[in-house]
Amino acid sequence: MSCAAAKETAPMVHSSAKPDATVNPCTLCAPLGAALATAGVRGAIPLLHGAQGCATYIRRYLISHFREPMDVASSSFGEAQTVFGGEDNLGRALDNVLAQYHPELVTVATTCLAETIGDDVPLLLNRYRTRTGNALPLVHAATPSYKDGHVEGFHAMVYALVKGLACNQGAPSRAVNLLPPLVSPADLRHLREIVAGFDVAAIVLPDYADRLDGVILDRYRALPDGGTRLVDIASMPRALASIDLTLTGRAPRASKLLAERGAPARVLGLPIGVRATDVMIESLSELTGAGRPAWLVGERGRLLDAYADGHKYVFGASVGLYGDPEFVAALAGFLLEIGARPVFCATGARNRALPEALASLPAGSVDEVLDDTDFESIGAACERHKPDLLMGSSKGYRLAHALGIPLLRVGFPIHDRLGAGRILHVGYRGTTRLFDELVNALLQGRQDASPVGFSYL
Ligand code: SF4
Repeated sequence: MSCAAAKETAPMVHSSAKPDATVNPCTLCAPLGAALATAGVRGAIPLLHGAQGCATYIRRYLISHFREPMDVASSSFGEAQTVFGGEDNLGRALDNVLAQYHPELVTVATTCLAETIGDDVPLLLNRYRTRTGNALPLVHAATPSYKDGHVEGFHAMVYALVKGLACNQGAPSRAVNLLPPLVSPADLRHLREIVAGFDVAAIVLPDYADRLDGVILDRYRALPDGGTRLVDIASMPRALASIDLTLTGRAPRASKLLAERGAPARVLGLPIGVRATDVMIESLSELTGAGRPAWLVGERGRLLDAYADGHKYVFGASVGLYGDPEFVAALAGFLLEIGARPVFCATGARNRALPEALASLPAGSVDEVLDDTDFESIGAACERHKPDLLMGSSKGYRLAHALGIPLLRVGFPIHDRLGAGRILHVGYRGTTRLFDELVNALLQGRQDASPVGFSYL
């Protein structure tokens, strides 16, 4: 049997065991995901129940990626609250947030400290409502970061928003619910544009595109415009259907709840690559009865033309993938359709959905899958598989630098480059951009490694 044939039939290795200590985690804090999901609702502000440092870290992390202001309130635990519980602080924090921000919605996510001492947040919020008579919507998601990461926190908050707010009964609406994972503002805008191409309204939850990639303002606004309106979230059960682009793993699925309330769900992969985008386009066409708009047909054709132009530069290239499960699964499919090899697929999320999604690819497509992993283990995977290129967040930069291979920055977080919010990954258009960047990163690596240099290909 030839080496190539042996590779084709080799079973995919699934590694979830890692050393006792996490070294440089490949995931972030669960309330961070909840705060980001909150930014996708108009007039909403996230409040973290716990220590103040958690809110400060999360704000800094999000601002460094999106380069936009991001307010995150805190109930600011001290020693007394750590021992006796944080009810008084939570009440004071809510009073302050309502007085200063005049929000339409406050979400409350729990930090490790509040989860560890076992504060019963739903009970505390009920007592606050009874005591103050305030009817403002308060949505709570439990986000223990010692158990989950930002991906689960994001999905937990989206589920809580649907559970608490999407309960409007009435006539069916000609809208499609879109439930994206953590993608860029450019992706959110393009997803909206694709749905609008089928002459239906898109209710995207969450939609932080305009809040976290906004226009320049002449004065600070605590709650910038943008985000999904509460009235639209309320109407989600009456939509034609929900298109769910997430791999929630252990977190509950918001689209399943919406299906129970009236809007049937279609769970698809993130539309990166021709095949995955085709699936979404065909779904929209079936749901709406409308044909593909001409501009999408044109973008698909230009993407195929780009593949024809560049396939000789990427065919056989080995790529190490890491990041959020939805991105890793979608990028693996994209790499396979351009003839590159995703030699390992890694995520810090404890998410069985990633190995399951990758198992549906042709046998031998991926050599190794790592979940619940860290960059120490990803470094060891690089030693085993010797990729030509890494694709993932900027957290892999040190590794790529040490290995002397290019890093193509995708997903979240990207802290060492400008314009993370403007990176378009999805649809035919986003895939074309990604393909160009991938080819050019490989060419740059080959040029840099050449002892004589070359300038024509
Ligand atoms: S203590 Fe927990 S909630 Fe706070 S920043 Fe650290 S991981 Fe996040």
